Amino acid sequence: MNVHTIWERTLTLLESCATEATYLTYLKPLYPHSYDNNILSLKTPEDFHKPTIIKRYLFDIKRCFNEVIESNDNDVIIVSPEDFADSGEQSAKHNNYKMTNLRPGYLFDTFVEGSNNLMAASAAKAVADASGTGASVYNPLFLYGGVGLGKTHLMHAIGNQVIEQKPSIKVRYISSETFTNEFTAALREKTMPEFIKKYRDCDLILIDDIQFLEGKERTQEEMFHTFNDLYNNNKQIVIASDQPPARLGGLEERLTSRFAMGLQVDITKPDDATRAAILDKKMQRENIDIPTDVKEFILKNFINNIRDLEGALNKILAYARLSSVPISLELAENALKDQLINHAPPVLTMDYIQTIVANHYNLTTEEINSRKRTQNIVFPRQIAMYLCRKLMDVSQPEVGKFFGGRDHTTVIHSCEKISAELEYDIQLKEAISLLEKIIKGE
Ligand code: ADP
Ligand code: MG
Repeated sequence: MNVHTIWERTLTLLESCATEATYLTYLKPLYPHSYDNNILSLKTPEDFHKPTIIKRYLFDIKRCFNEVIESNDNDVIIVSPEDFADSGEQSAKHNNYKMTNLRPGYLFDTFVEGSNNLMAASAAKAVADASGTGASVYNPLFLYGGVGLGKTHLMHAIGNQVIEQKPSIKVRYISSETFTNEFTAALREKTMPEFIKKYRDCDLILIDDIQFLEGKERTQEEMFHTFNDLYNNNKQIVIASDQPPARLGGLEERLTSRFAMGLQVDITKPDDATRAAILDKKMQRENIDIPTDVKEFILKNFINNIRDLEGALNKILAYARLSSVPISLELAENALKDQLINHAPPVLTMDYIQTIVANHYNLTTEEINSRKRTQNIVFPRQIAMYLCRKLMDVSQPEVGKFFGGRDHTTVIHSCEKISAELEYDIQLKEAISLLEKIIKGE
C-alpha cells in the first residue's frame, strides 16, 4: 500500500467516528506527506490547525492508521506549512530530526522501569548523559532480550534525549535490515562514499536488531569497518539484539568480540506489577480509561511481551470505537478472540473442566454435581476432580465445595483412586490424556 492508499483508508475509518464538521474542517484537509521508518507524516493546510489536530485528533488518527496497516506501534506526526518554510529554524530542526530516524514517542519519560529492565534503563540513561561529552561510559552498550520487551524504545529514548539536550550532536538510528539494504544499494549504484560518510559521520549511532546480519558476510565486513571507525574516534555506539554477543552464531567472531567490549545488559520479561504500570501509563498518556475487569483481562492474557499487551489495548479501543459500543469484558474477549488462541492458553476454571469431562461422557454438569452415585456418573465425577487438582492451583476443600458441596475427603479418595487406576488401565490413561489436551486447547 502506498501512503495515499493508507491515508484514504484511514480517513474512511475516521469519517465513521468523527462528526461531519470535524471531519471536513480538520481531518479531510490533511495531506499525507510521507511514510517511512514507521512514521506517517501528515501536513496541515494552515499552521494554526496543527495544535488543534495534535491536541484533539492525533490519538484517533494514530489508532485508525494502525488499524489500517495492522500494526500497533507506528507513529503519526503532524507537520505544518511553516515547518517547511525554507529558512525557518523549525524547518531546519525538522529536517535534522528526520535525518536521525528517531521516533518521537519513544522517550525515557514514557518508559516504565521495572525489575526486568532496570539495569538496561540505567545504562541507557548513563550513555545518553555522557554522549557528546567526550567521556563515554559504556562503549558499546549492547542491549539484548526477546521481542517486544523495550530494546528499540530504549535506543530511541537515548537518541531523543541527546538531540533534545545537545542539538548539535549528530545522532543516527538504524536497523540492521536498513543498513544491509542501503549497503547493497550503494554497491549496486556505486555510491559507497556517500554510504560510508552517512554512517561514519555521526557522534552517536544506534544499531538495532544486529542479529539480522547473521550469515550476511559482506554486510558484516562493512559493519566491522563502520564499528572500528566510530569506536576509534570515540563515538558512542549502542547495539540491540535478541541474543548476547557470544550467542550470535552467524556473526563473525571479530565482530561479536568487539560488541562484547563494552557493557552487555539484558531485558527480561516484565513481572505483573511492571505490566500493570505500563498499561496504566499508556492509558494515562492517551487520556483513556477502561473498566477494571477489562484491564485485568488484558494483563492476564498478554503476559509475554509489551508489544502484545499494547496491541491488545489498541485493538479493544479500535473495536469499541468502530462498533460504537462501550468497552466491556465481552467486547474485549470478542476483539481479541483470535489472539487468545494463538498467544495464551485458555483461562482454566473448574466449571470449564467439568463441562469438558461431562460432555465427553454424555452427562450434564448438573449430574456431575448431583448426589447420584451410579457408576456412570461417579467415575466421570472422579476424573473431573482429579483433573481440577492436576491442572489447576486449587485445594481439596475448594474442589469439594465446587462439586456440589462435597467433603474434601471425597476429593482425596477420588484423586487417589484415579491415580491408582492410571497405573495399569491404558484406556483410562488415553482418555485422560485426551481430556487434558482438550482442556488445554492443544
Ligand atoms: P523490542 O525492540 O525489544 O522488540 P520495543 O522497544 O519495540 O521492543 O517495545 C515494544 C512496545 O512496547 C513499544 O511500543 C514500546 O513502547 C513498549 N514498551 C516496551 N517496554 C516498555 C516499558 N518498559 N515501558 C513502556 N513501554 C514499553
Ligand atoms: Mg526492536
